[in-house]
Amino acid sequence: MSSKPKKRRGLRKPCSVCGRWFVADARVGARQKTCSEECRRALKVSHRATFAKNNPHYWRERRLDAKIERIAGKQSPPELGTRPPALRQMPGAYVLSKMGTEALVILGELGRVLLAGAQSEMEVQVLRLKEEFGEVLRAEPQSEIAAVSSRS
Ligand SMILES: [Zn+2]
Repeated sequence: MSSKPKKRRGLRKPCSVCGRWFVADARVGARQKTCSEECRRALKVSHRATFAKNNPHYWRERRLDAKIERIAGKQSPPELGTRPPALRQMPGAYVLSKMGTEALVILGELGRVLLAGAQSEMEVQVLRLKEEFGEVLRAEPQSEIAAVSSRS
């Protein structure tokens, strides 16, 4: 009447993260690379890092493609309010009419990258100035102040 359920035996293999031997789930078989959820997550993180290293512009390109798709066919450049003030000076409608959507989006991105670079450089300069100014204040000899105040 009832047949004995077949015992599904998984493949024994070493975990590609920790190296420990494990029995792979029979349903997954040879495709299973890790022994545990923890190792599976670690492998995923490692794969993501490898992907990001090999495809450094992937997400930016996807974002720009999506933006080009959103803007395509529109007569005026949208999202003017979301642009940094320095980039609002770029005549978006003019660029759009002369060069098209791709150029508008790419020039906008170029502007953002340059602006971010300039801002981060300015922050570094401010920190350096504060540090140097602080050193000058600390180095101010107390004796000179005392000398000046005793004269009066
Ligand atoms: Zn493992």
